[in-house]
Amino acid sequence: MSTKDYLEKDYYAVLGVPKTATAEEIKKAYRKLARQYHPDANQGSTETEAKFKEVSEAYDVLSDTKRRKEYDEARTLFGSGLGGYAGGGGASRGGGFPFDLGDLFGGTNQQQSGAGERIGDLFGGIFNRGGAGRAGGTATTRARRGQDIESEVTLSFGEAVDGATVSLRLTSSSACTACSGTGAKAGTTPRVCPTCEGTGAASRNLGNFAFSEPCRDCKGRGLLVDDPCPVCEGSGRGKSTRTIQARIPAGVGDGQRIKLKGKGAPGENGGPAGDLYVQIHVKPHPVFGRTGENLTITVPVTFTEAALGAEIKVPILKGLPVTLRIPEGTPNGRTFRVRGRGVSRKDGTKGDLLATVEVLVPQQLEDKARNALEEFRDATAGGDPRADLIQQARSE
Ligand SMILES: [Zn+2]
Ligand SMILES: [Zn+2]
Repeated sequence: MSTKDYLEKDYYAVLGVPKTATAEEIKKAYRKLARQYHPDANQGSTETEAKFKEVSEAYDVLSDTKRRKEYDEARTLFGSGLGGYAGGGGASRGGGFPFDLGDLFGGTNQQQSGAGERIGDLFGGIFNRGGAGRAGGTATTRARRGQDIESEVTLSFGEAVDGATVSLRLTSSSACTACSGTGAKAGTTPRVCPTCEGTGAASRNLGNFAFSEPCRDCKGRGLLVDDPCPVCEGSGRGKSTRTIQARIPAGVGDGQRIKLKGKGAPGENGGPAGDLYVQIHVKPHPVFGRTGENLTITVPVTFTEAALGAEIKVPILKGLPVTLRIPEGTPNGRTFRVRGRGVSRKDGTKGDLLATVEVLVPQQLEDKARNALEEFRDATAGGDPRADLIQQARSE
């Protein structure tokens, strides 16, 4: 409901009652029209739904003594039929609208400050009356989005790298099957809450502001159950378990939480399904590690392979090992990039495999090998690898 609505709409005409109607007459007229236009009685007709909203809106205002007074005052002040009124503090635009709104709302004009304050109150109240309770029709027909569901899955290292389809057992809250979600015992039906007239919302005034809050009598459902369903104890909600196949995209990491849109609990009354959030756990691999889209591996090489150069076999995650050429004089810890053997990307391409060499030092030597190494040592004597180090340590 907007300010414009408030000034433009003739709530008395909507309910078909005179301006002098008593509270009882207003209530009676509303009941009659509400029954006539109730969405439950007019399957899916948008015209009657609009009419129902209009009637409810009119009754909201006219049934509340304070708001009815504000409404009557507003219409007396501004006259009825504010065709061109556009809201805000601008000057008059419509034909039958003789006031300068700027003066009225600002309260700067002393002569009119009394009226200005009153209008301020009125507008403050209206501005904060969101249509929350009315917007979606009554509680019985309101489309409700399905619940979001949390789940978790443990993937092998390879499944995380390439993506996988997994079975997930999901438990969610859904409509109770015994009572079809009404909360009423089989054979009985819930009745419309008289306090909120089925909207589930109540408004509360705090000075200039009005808040919409869930109706206390029906806890926001809009319905009251006299004879509760024994299965769900009147809540209308039940637990359901189902198993779904979910596609986990390639490249997920341990500890990641992914969202699968629309895979949560189904919606009610045509509402959309909720989302499914899956917490990912990934088992470590004995050989491979991961850095983002790249796989990592540590490859042992012998001292002579590193010194003389070599072609070595390096395992990849799936498929036969690839050949990696180690150049002469490769230092310990150097990393080589094997392109396209890493983690699958969204576009179908893959990251790289980063192979880091680790030079092995022989732990036990046969005589022949020992002799050869001693010969090597003698052949390379004279070069002290720590000469520079000692030099640099002294220079400071
Ligand atoms: Zn209620
Ligand atoms: Zn039930």
